[in-house]
Amino acid sequence: MEDKNLYKKPQKQSNFSRSDNSKYCRFHRENGHETSKCYQLRGYIEKLIMEGYLKDVDFEGIDD
Ligand SMILES: [Zn+2]
Repeated sequence: MEDKNLYKKPQKQSNFSRSDNSKYCRFHRENGHETSKCYQLRGYIEKLIMEGYLKDVDFEGIDD
């Protein structure tokens, strides 16, 4: 089973431009792409939601 590595360190995203230092990903803690463009972070959050870790987050009443 190689699934053990799934939740360890995020892998480098080599398909992003490597030397774009104007963009920084806080999830990977490295330059190359923006946090908002990080599809690995997005997938990670979706996984957390699906597994119930974020079920207590209350999105209602935020713009009250
Ligand atoms: Zn990233």
